Order: sequence, then structure tokens, then C-alpha cells
Amino acid sequence: MPVRMKSLPLLLLACAALSSAAPVAPEVDTTMLVEGYLRNFYSLETELHPSFKRKITDSVSEKLKKMQSFFGLKVTGKLNNETVEMMKQPRCGVPDIGEYVLIDGNPKWTRNDLTYRIINRTPDMRPADVDEAIKQAFEVWSNVVPLTFRRIEDGAADIMMSFQYRDHGDGYPFYGPHGTLAHAFQPGPRIGGDVHFDEEETWTKYNRGYSLFIVAAHELGHSLGLAHSPDPGSLMYPNYAYRDTKEFHLPQDDINGIQAIYGQSLQPVQPTGPSTPGTCDPNLSFDAVATLRGEMLFFKGRYLWRKHPQIRETEINLISQFWPTLPAGIQAAYENVEKDQFVLFKEDKYWVFKESNVVHGYPKRIHQLGFPKTVKRINAAFSDKNTGKTYFFVANKYWSYDERRQSMDKGYPRKIIKDFGKIGQIDAAFQHNGYIYLFHGTKQTQFDPNTKQVVRVLKSTSWFGC
Ligand SMILES: [Zn+2]
Ligand SMILES: [Zn+2]
Repeated sequence: MPVRMKSLPLLLLACAALSSAAPVAPEVDTTMLVEGYLRNFYSLETELHPSFKRKITDSVSEKLKKMQSFFGLKVTGKLNNETVEMMKQPRCGVPDIGEYVLIDGNPKWTRNDLTYRIINRTPDMRPADVDEAIKQAFEVWSNVVPLTFRRIEDGAADIMMSFQYRDHGDGYPFYGPHGTLAHAFQPGPRIGGDVHFDEEETWTKYNRGYSLFIVAAHELGHSLGLAHSPDPGSLMYPNYAYRDTKEFHLPQDDINGIQAIYGQSLQPVQPTGPSTPGTCDPNLSFDAVATLRGEMLFFKGRYLWRKHPQIRETEINLISQFWPTLPAGIQAAYENVEKDQFVLFKEDKYWVFKESNVVHGYPKRIHQLGFPKTVKRINAAFSDKNTGKTYFFVANKYWSYDERRQSMDKGYPRKIIKDFGKIGQIDAAFQHNGYIYLFHGTKQTQFDPNTKQVVRVLKSTSWFGC
């Protein structure tokens, strides 16, 4: 079953009125989607008498503002495609504002030795794999705070975990595949702490369907008393993004949150986790930069910034939110406009994507493009859509590749310094409005290929309006 990932083309369709893209059939009635979303996650009350209609409209606008603010979108209180796109993402069922309140205040468990029980298992996975994913999800939290979790086989546990279908008696029904994936209740007696997974999702231990480990780890954050975080790199961000179980490190934002409730770990050395980079951090540099369907994409570690020239805001996401099969630390990327493909590089491998799907047969080795064996990785790449040439930067040299003939051009590699001047090692490159932008550390050089002159040197974050 295909996962409905955050779709890149959607935003473009919204903005490019000139685009001749084929019409897309509306999947969901937008009004219903928006009302349902605001009701479920922003405590919008719509059960009012018709004469209060005006009031509802005001209220929708207020709730939209809260939602846009939470997700770092432009706060207008009006519907736009960015907002609708965000609402279509698979996510947790717990509200972003207005909790599933059982008791007032900030609830927490008062004992440190908690029990859990797995009531039933999804048929999507082997029972042992379900148990393992859930055990690992508990360890995410027990690694950073002085809590222990012991599994019991019967009787009442503090945290009861189950797979549930549609209306399952707690007032928070599931609605079928995608949309809401799971929900959990804050600490407390009876249903408090319990976790419900939507049985109609496809649960896996891999990057297909939805990772049970990642969703369970997120929900357990709620079971322990955490609310949603607006940090897109955090585990407690409401929207789903795949992460590899073996490489998972709890982000610092989540560590700070849980330690504020339960105190520091009893381990001799306090655990630390990755922090989401600040968009306007003056020390920010990029691993790769590329255009994609009119947007600019900036890659750094596990993160990706999207910038549409007509939208002021820059959106940061995990790379895995768009391409779950890609590793972190992409080193080069370019858009093949003619084939509508996106090509990404890491070490000696490269991937070709058509939208969010990897093209069959990839990843392949970079040597299949014609690089000698001495080339171990690509530092940067950009494609010239007018000539069909793609340029690859490797250490102090660059290559020219003919996309139509699918081979390297004769006379290459050439020294970068000869054709672009004294720039130093290039981290990332892209072409925009006829200029080439070469990124090196916290700076970028704007280069005019016609006059072969440097136009100016900018901060690497200049595109973000910092
Ligand atoms: Zn949640
Ligand atoms: Zn439930």
C-alpha cells in the first residue's frame, strides 16, 4: 500500500497558475477536511445553532491562525494550499491544542516503575516484531529519564497498548487508512496512558507503510505526559516521518521535554540528541541545494528546507518526510527537468526519484555515470536545462555529463579554479535565472556563466530572507 507522503508537487500546483499540469482529482472535500482537522486537533466547536454561523466562521479563522502558527506557516487565518497540504499529512490523533484532558494541570506518573501490556497485535507484522518495536519504543524514553517499563501478560497495566478499528468506544474513532494513525492518553488511571493504533494502517518495521516503532515511540511521549512540539525535527511533532530504528536518536527537544517532567537520567553521562538547525543560524552551511518543480531545496544532515520563490516562509522538514528510503547526509542533488526526475547522491551511490518514488533499479553506483574509481563521492551538482548538461563537482575538479547521450563529455574533468575562480571546495550548487550559485561553507558565490564572472558573494542563507 502506498504511503501518502507529504507531496512535493501539490504546493507547486497551488502556486503555478501558469502550469499546464494535468488536473488532479480532489481527494477529499476541502471544507470537510478543514473542519474535521480543526475540530479534532484545534478544538473547533461546530455543533452550534445555524444562526451562529457567523461566529463559526470567525472561529474557523481563529483556529486556522493557531494551526498556521503551530506549523510555522504564514499566519493569515485564511485557507491556502500550504495549509491544506499540511492538513493532508498522516499524523497523530492527539490535538495540538486542547489535550485529551483527564485531569487538570500537567499530569505525570507518580511512580517510576511502570507496567505495560500489549492487548492485541496487528496481523501486518510477525508478533515477535510487534513486541520488539514496542519494547524499543519504551527504551527511547527509559534511556533518558529515570523510568522503567515492565511488560505484563495479563491484568491491568499502567499503559495498555492495542490496535483498534474505527469507533472503539473512547470517543475518538479512527477513519481508515492514513489521516490519523494512532492516539494516546495522558498519564492517569484507567484509560490514562493507553495507546491505540489504527488497525487500518499498514504497520511495518521498515520504511514502507508506517513504522510501528516510530509511531509507538511518539505515542508513548503522550502516555508519559508530553504534548506536541512545533519543532519539525522532534519526535513529538504531530506529523509522521519515517526514521530508521537502528539509527534513531531521540532529539534534544524531546529529551528536554521529558526531563522537565521526570528529571535527568540516572546514567553517569546525560544523553544528548540532535537539534534542529535554526533557519537563520549564521553558521549554517548546506550539504546540497537543488531546484525541484519551481521550488528550491536545501539539504543539511537529516533536514530539508523548502523555499518557493513566491512564498516568504521557508519550511524545514526531515528529508525522510518526503523520501523515506533516503539516508541522511545527502551530498549532492539536481533536478533533471526534461525527465521530471530528481537525482540525489551520497558517497558512491545515487538515487533517481520520480515524485516520492525511487525509480526501479536505484540506488546505483556513481561509476555507472562514467566517473573513474578514484572518485568516491560527489560534492555538488547542478543541471543546465537549456543545454542538457549536468555538472559534477568533486574536490578541486568538475565534470560535465551529457544527459541526452548519457555519458561524460570529453575534455573533463577540468580544474574548478580555472573556470570559476578561487572559490575553494564547493559543498552545493544550483542554477537559477541563468546564474550559477556555488555554496562553500557559510557563503555562496553567484556566478554568471556568460561573462564567466563572479557577480557577488552572499551568505549561504540569503534565500531564506535572514
Ligand atoms: Zn501525538
Ligand atoms: Zn482510542
